[in-house]
Amino acid sequence: MRPRHLSLAGDDPHVLAKTMAEKVVIIGSGPAAHTAAIYAARAELKPVLFEGFMAGGVAAGGQLTTTTDVENFPGFPQGIQGPELCQRFRDQSERFGTRIHTETVNSVDLSRRPFRYVTDEREGEAEVLIIATGATAKRLDIPGAGDDELWQKGISACAVCDGALPLFRNQPLVVIGGGDSAVEEATFLTKYGSRVYIVHRRDELRASKIMQKRALDNNKIEMMWSHVVVAASGAEELESVRVKDVKSDEERDVAAKGLFFAIGHTPNTEFLDGQLTCDEQGYLITKPDSTQTSVPGVFAAGDVQDKKWRQAITAAGTGCMAALEAEHFLAANPST
Ligand code: FAD
Ligand code: NDP
Repeated sequence: MRPRHLSLAGDDPHVLAKTMAEKVVIIGSGPAAHTAAIYAARAELKPVLFEGFMAGGVAAGGQLTTTTDVENFPGFPQGIQGPELCQRFRDQSERFGTRIHTETVNSVDLSRRPFRYVTDEREGEAEVLIIATGATAKRLDIPGAGDDELWQKGISACAVCDGALPLFRNQPLVVIGGGDSAVEEATFLTKYGSRVYIVHRRDELRASKIMQKRALDNNKIEMMWSHVVVAASGAEELESVRVKDVKSDEERDVAAKGLFFAIGHTPNTEFLDGQLTCDEQGYLITKPDSTQTSVPGVFAAGDVQDKKWRQAITAAGTGCMAALEAEHFLAANPST
């Protein structure tokens, strides 16, 4: 692997990338990034896309590479496997000429146009940047929930995505968390599960009052106040979780076919080093009805700027917006 900061001497082909600014550079590889790439490429903006190499702990292709059935993305009436959908996004980007590099962008300099970026293997300049680096769902590091254990075998970090799967039908389900996501996901899961337990580490929810009420009034939901989940077990799929009362330290097993983490997400914005305005949780702030960030010429799409909807289709929608806005921006602000 090349050093992060290259010497610019010699005939290294990457020096060319540094001296000639690309029109549009897209950082990310989920539905937002590839939709932006498809639109930008068809607009003849010759986009370059850095798909990352396990950036934010997620494989190139984004969060959908970590799931099985995707049943709510239009165009696939029988559903489609997450990794296959990601591959199709990528193929469509390439078909229109997007140049894709499997490299993580480690840093950017947004202080002037063209903007500078540095990856593990090269550095370069871009007239417009589209940030589509997504967010990583937080997971609990408890015995039984690892990648090679019961993760995705009854354990998920997205109830809206996975809740309708047959294995959860009429079964007891557990949601961990006390925020809006937890109560919203628990309420959603009552459509499928026989009973839904919300395991929350405190005796008070963080969720908004209206969302709380909706969950607390739902007779399929049972609160486990001041409890934490300390382990998950099952042979092939999840069968039970071990919960601990944090006040008494007592532990017991609860039968559960589903365990959903709703303990927040981490947006992948660290590499921006504070150069774009973020909210207190690190999500990029965009102008209303726009993907424009706090720096003109830098656009943000997908989960990195959306902590509310967080769906593949909404990410794709904002990816489309970012590319169209990039095109308008370049027309109004020609190359420097
Ligand atoms: P992401 O999919 O998050 O992709 C961002 C990519 O950018 C990642 O690959 C990351 O590695 C890369 N990256 C990050 N930093 C850098 C960097 N510095 N340089 C280069 N690359 C970088 N949604 C649905 O609509 N339907 C579903 O069925 C569904 N199922 C889901 C199941 C699971 C388990 C999870 C976790 C999510 C699911 N979602 C589902 C949500 C959906 O996956 C996300 O909303 C969507 O993928 C967000 O897309 P995105 O383009 O914003 O970014
Ligand atoms: P939050 O950060 O609001 O809540 C996370 C919850 O998980 C908290 O209750 C927290 O506990 C708990 N938690 C965090 N870490 C752990 C851990 N290690 N072990 C056990 N529990 C843990 O995240 P959300 O995803 O719920 O919400 C994020 C934002 O998105 C919020 O602004 C929310 O309002 C918004 N949102 C809005 C929705 C809507 O309006 N429909 C729907 C979903 C989200 P504690 O409370 O003790 O800190």
